[in-house]
Amino acid sequence: MRARAAWTIAPETPLQFLRGVGEARAALLAAAGLDTVGDLLYSFPYRYEDRRHTVRISEIAGVMAPVTLRGTIISATLRTSPIRKLKIFEAIVDDGSGRVMLVWFNQAWLAEQLRRNDRLVIHGQPRVNSRGRLQIENPAFEKLGPDGEADEEGAIIPIYSSVSGIAPKTMRRIAQQALEAAARIEDPLPEEIRSRLDVIGLREAIINLHRPAEIDEAFLQGRSAAHRRMIIQEFFSFQLALRLRRATQETDKRPRAIEITDAIRDRIRSILPFRLTAAQKRVLREIATDMQSDRPMYRLLQGDVGSGKTIVALVSALLAIENGFQVALLAPTEILSEQHHQRIVQLLSAGGRGVRVAKLTANANGRERDALLRGLREGTIDLVIGTHALLEERVVFSRLGLAIVDEQHRFGVEHRQCLFAKGRLPDVLVMTATPIPRSMALAMYGDLELSVIDELPPGRKPVTTVIRGTARLPNVLGFLEEQVKAGAQGYVVFPLIEDSDKLDLTSLTAGFETIRQGLPSCRLAMLHGRMPPDEKEQAMRRFVAQEVDVLVSTTVIEVGVDVSNASMMIVIDADRFGLAQLHQLRGRIGRGQRKSYCALIRSEGAGEEAKERLRAFRQTSDGFEVAQRDLELRGAGDFLGTRQSGVPRFRFGDLVGDYPFMELAREAAIELVDQSRTRAGELLGRLAAGERASRLPRD
Ligand code: ADP
Ligand code: MG
Repeated sequence: MRARAAWTIAPETPLQFLRGVGEARAALLAAAGLDTVGDLLYSFPYRYEDRRHTVRISEIAGVMAPVTLRGTIISATLRTSPIRKLKIFEAIVDDGSGRVMLVWFNQAWLAEQLRRNDRLVIHGQPRVNSRGRLQIENPAFEKLGPDGEADEEGAIIPIYSSVSGIAPKTMRRIAQQALEAAARIEDPLPEEIRSRLDVIGLREAIINLHRPAEIDEAFLQGRSAAHRRMIIQEFFSFQLALRLRRATQETDKRPRAIEITDAIRDRIRSILPFRLTAAQKRVLREIATDMQSDRPMYRLLQGDVGSGKTIVALVSALLAIENGFQVALLAPTEILSEQHHQRIVQLLSAGGRGVRVAKLTANANGRERDALLRGLREGTIDLVIGTHALLEERVVFSRLGLAIVDEQHRFGVEHRQCLFAKGRLPDVLVMTATPIPRSMALAMYGDLELSVIDELPPGRKPVTTVIRGTARLPNVLGFLEEQVKAGAQGYVVFPLIEDSDKLDLTSLTAGFETIRQGLPSCRLAMLHGRMPPDEKEQAMRRFVAQEVDVLVSTTVIEVGVDVSNASMMIVIDADRFGLAQLHQLRGRIGRGQRKSYCALIRSEGAGEEAKERLRAFRQTSDGFEVAQRDLELRGAGDFLGTRQSGVPRFRFGDLVGDYPFMELAREAAIELVDQSRTRAGELLGRLAAGERASRLPRD
């Protein structure tokens, strides 16, 4: 490409052609992921300094917020702290009104950079040190040139993420130059969508973020009209993509709908072992309405642990089966699959009519499996329950009408899609006990309708939660032993990640030994994900049959396991678990008549933050509260733990703080797709093209 004159700078112009950027700087910028002017336009400053109002040093005592000051170094010394052998660089800055000490730890190289008589702009949080003197630790600073840098005084200065080898001031000059291309930015959102979303134009937003005319409180909080535009555009693109994908799957109206006759209602009533809660009834009405329509159901059923999702799944399954369809129930673990199978067979036995139920597990032998696959293909099996084995290509259905995915957070979107593809527009019901806050649910499952069971079955007793140091483990085990003598059962869970290939069996075995010694009179069994499926099944069966008092386990029991006689849960090194996971574990108890106890054993190395997390957890039993708390403490990225791949990451928006925007974006996306799929598709194309031009990083 030829070099261009400045007035033709466009978003796709390589940075090399900007004034002051030669090949060398272009290479440095490229190393930081910045190739074009567009890249730079979308790389917003992460902070701004208001140098119109630099504060005078005489005024900063007691100021709680970071301040920007300007002054001259009157002394600079590098010393080594006597106790910790830390290199400490100290500089005293004077601005005519007073003096402040700047302190940097372990940055000895600063002694080469900052010398007496240098003029600086400083940004940092002042505080009074132990000797009663004012100081600022590790401040951000910029050296002012000998001429006082008149061009940058008295302005709002954007501060960009540092690019190694390029001075902040140079970075600003380059970015400001890139702004010349802003005039050529086409707004991908037409006027009517902008007003629906209540956002300003893209050009205006970008200019404002690089060169704000004013920075008020809203701006500093990332809540100005300009910020809002970037966040909402990002969320809107995302939701539009989700809705379009779904709309495409619905192109054909499906050839059939489910009918719900009185006979079907009676049959369902006859298998219910208890009265449904109001929440279960409401959710079932929502599901039934979906299933009766000529579009496939695509619904997320969210309900706290123990809220009774299984029965809802079973009733939904019966609606399909009674209409002559097959149903698949996908569960994340063999244990859960086995448990569902047992329970469903038992429930159905009360209903009289022969629903043909089968279980597909990884360890089924060849003959069994062939018979089962044939049954599915020929339609002689009505309901199949299984793990990932269900997703295999050779699993073919005759008339799959409903696909249910239990504990959806253990599966990815692709698994859901894979099951969907095994039928002709089957209904899809995904269930999760992970109490995902609504913001996350909209981001992860924005293409699903949401049903929530927000009520527990009657008679649940609150679980008492205690936190104990490792040294107290013997006492806690002693307590469990007493409970067992009184007829109860319990779990001891070790923090070993199951999904990794290197399950640390040695430490589980060692842990098992410790527990055995602490519970001399109890019958124990071990359970972990690397055991052969039939051994797992057997351990679980013996626990259910009360031949085993205490299950020593990894987190395989985290999801779904339902044994109502178990009333004590001991979690070893509880600080190593996320709150959502602890909530799942605690949800295994408090299901029966017994008073239940959850003991969180804190590891020796637990930090203050981890302790705080456990204390927060002790105080609430509400899953949604726990989830929200976890989200705030750990941020969206970490929230569901590393194995949770389903959470999209956003560049501008924050799932916690900006969640109302996600809601707005979703509604607008639904409206647009409903009005015209073609227009929605074109718009998404424009949004995506804009993002590509500027090379927004995407996951
Ligand atoms: P989850 O939502 O965690 O999957 P389950 O479906 O396993 O919960 O239900 C938890 C327990 O509550 C089960 O033992 C189930 O039989 C029981 N249960 C579910 N609904 C009701 C109800 N309406 N009344 C009484 N018990 C119920
Ligand atoms: Mg469940």
